Amino acid sequence: MGVMEKYRDYVMTGFVKRVEPVVADHGEGALLYDADGAEYIDCFAGISVTNAGHGERRIIEAAKAQADKLVHACTYVYHVQSAADLAEKLAQITPGRLQKTFFANSGAEALEGAMRLAKRFSGKREFVALESSFHGRTYATLSITGNSGRKKGGGPYMPGVAFAPTPYCYRCPLNLEVETCDMACARRVAETARLSLSGDVCAFIAEPVMGEGGIIPPPLDYFKVVKEWMDAEGVLFICDEVQSGFGRTGKMFAIEWYGVEPDIMCMAKGIANGWPLGAFTARPEIADAFQVGDHLSTFGGNPVSCAAALANIAVHEEDKLAEQAQRKGEALMARLRELQKSQPLIGDVRGRGLMVGVELVTDPGTKGYATEAAAFTRQYCLDHHVLIGVGGNFGNVLRVQPPLVISDEQLDTVYRTIEAALAAYAKK
Ligand code: PLP
Repeated sequence: MGVMEKYRDYVMTGFVKRVEPVVADHGEGALLYDADGAEYIDCFAGISVTNAGHGERRIIEAAKAQADKLVHACTYVYHVQSAADLAEKLAQITPGRLQKTFFANSGAEALEGAMRLAKRFSGKREFVALESSFHGRTYATLSITGNSGRKKGGGPYMPGVAFAPTPYCYRCPLNLEVETCDMACARRVAETARLSLSGDVCAFIAEPVMGEGGIIPPPLDYFKVVKEWMDAEGVLFICDEVQSGFGRTGKMFAIEWYGVEPDIMCMAKGIANGWPLGAFTARPEIADAFQVGDHLSTFGGNPVSCAAALANIAVHEEDKLAEQAQRKGEALMARLRELQKSQPLIGDVRGRGLMVGVELVTDPGTKGYATEAAAFTRQYCLDHHVLIGVGGNFGNVLRVQPPLVISDEQLDTVYRTIEAALAAYAKK
């Protein structure tokens, strides 16, 4: 029996297969190879995880050395050097006064813990999140996710959550123009809390660049305006950097683009370049709200994952991966915007760094969702050995999120493949 057949018969796949899967065998940099040795340019990085590239030796060696010494000792029962070192490092690289870290295994688990900590600190119970957001697939994280496509079949969800409009300038939910809107969507966050909740709001939760929602970077003043309301009302800001963190957007963390300080920040995915690890970091006075016995994760802060994360952050710093992402992302987006002038399927090109979204439309005037064109493009790219993602509430946004070490030549191939795919779809 081959891998495909074993997956068919024995693996519970809870995710729609829009394309034929690739049997990923090994990788190097931005390249993935299948079991037959065929080469693919990986522009999805395992959903924005392997930011430092596949097969990065410095990280693998650090993980191996830790595995030789100790693989597991629950880091909340025992103290472990690599967890201590990583927590110290995160205090140095996360924004503002963020200092104390709780380690988990995944993004969703980090968000769950952050929500619990926010409740514990504030004594309040309600949350404001954003429409089109995505925060994970557990009960609480689906409850704060603003997209029924991800939530279907799992409801009813947690009460005490209200959703504010998506800061989505290409399709402004308030039908305003960006030049004159005076950041109305940010001001609506306060209204959402006032009109839909009971005055018991403990936190506002948001991604600084939305990933699954279709690579949506809010305008640069957005979080400053929302923060005015948060500060006035004593509402905490939980920043979900699970997808946007670790150099992806051209800064170590995407919130650095916005000049505001989160109260709690959630991380996972790119934190350890593929080793499973989630984390949330808080200001010390917030972190200390957890009482002894309040929160624990058996595998959280696994010594090997923490060693990998430390080496990963060192690689980010040594190789200036965020700067690389910024330069390469800008160059790619400039080419895609140029292509947009002659390719009416492209409605919008947006993103920060190498978190790039290309929104496809049936017509630039009506902005109809070109879901079929996106599925075609993804399949065409796969057929031509370029792996890209698709996102957005209607599945019409191409997502280009490669390892940040992707070469200029590889990015050129990616661009040319997308260009050819769109031309082939238009001709169809
Ligand atoms: N938050 C964001 C912004 C995400 O993109 C994701 C996953 O895609 C999650 C949370 C959940 O992370 P995980 O799949 O590790 O639980």
